[in-house]
Amino acid sequence: MQIRNPSFFEAPPFWKSDWEEVNAFLDGLSPTEDREIGRSQGGRPIRAVAYGEKEPIHRTNNRFSAQLARRTDEFFDPKKRTRPVMVVISTIHGGETEGCATCLNYAHLIESGADLRGRRWEDLRALTAEARVVLVPLAQPDGRIRAAVRHLVGGTPADMLYYGQGEPREKLPEPPTWEWFLRHNPIPLDLVSYLGGYYNDAGVNIDLDDFLSPGMAPETAALLALVRDECPDCVLVLHAHGPGPWISAPKAFVPRNIQFHQAQVGALVADRHRREGLRPAWRAPSGTVDTPYFDFPTALHHVSGSLPLAFEFPHGLVTHPYTFDEILDIGLTLFEESLRYATTWRHILWR
Ligand SMILES: [Zn+2]
Repeated sequence: MQIRNPSFFEAPPFWKSDWEEVNAFLDGLSPTEDREIGRSQGGRPIRAVAYGEKEPIHRTNNRFSAQLARRTDEFFDPKKRTRPVMVVISTIHGGETEGCATCLNYAHLIESGADLRGRRWEDLRALTAEARVVLVPLAQPDGRIRAAVRHLVGGTPADMLYYGQGEPREKLPEPPTWEWFLRHNPIPLDLVSYLGGYYNDAGVNIDLDDFLSPGMAPETAALLALVRDECPDCVLVLHAHGPGPWISAPKAFVPRNIQFHQAQVGALVADRHRREGLRPAWRAPSGTVDTPYFDFPTALHHVSGSLPLAFEFPHGLVTHPYTFDEILDIGLTLFEESLRYATTWRHILWR
């Protein structure tokens, strides 16, 4: 691995994203639950911390049989649950550390009232006190360790591609692109001289795993099992990219009511970011219109019925500058708006 910029390996004290410092931080918390939900391809623990008791789900059918029987309550009955539930999954792409740093600040503010900078979030804390939240700050440890950078603030798109996807072994006629890497999943390990953080140790990008295969990646299986078990009212999947903050356009292969809620939350979050001066991005809804595809958030919906929300943080590249403070505010306001939506509409979400 190259050190393309030494600053990527240092960060402010409130920005914790390195594998070892994240685990040490989690060890110091006092959540309701702290458990290992599975192991990565490389054998590393995937940890989930939860705040708020889990209410038992009495399940006598699988989701698909229950749907045809018109008895989805026999898989999960939202009317029997008293509190909203939100699951947050971050850093399935190991170079995308922004959601991880936000999760740890969120855990700190749940426990102490303030984030790691000392900023108080009374509304978010009050919403959380009435809910159950489950945080998976580092969902794909192999790639997190391999990417090694703590952040990409001040980086270039080429830095993002290098620590994200890696570097091909052979010189290509054109510089490699994101699309070139997408053509390989799993990526053959001998195709690259450096494997970036996108992939687990077997070269799998779990965002586009082979979801209906028994050979899916262990990270994918563990995360799908978590969400099937929790049936959260919403599940956030946190990524990062070059432009400003953005909730993905409605996914092509989820029902229309879920697409409706994805669009609604997307608008609310973008407006909150606009009001706070955090410069939301607009991207065309190509996932629905031009190029329908089945991805990890879509799979999370199908195993649970939950509302999946895929979110892109800005990395703070030179092309679209954001500070560490702004990136953290983007994340915590996202959590607040999403949890408020899930709290307000949780019975409607399951219809
Ligand atoms: Zn990503």
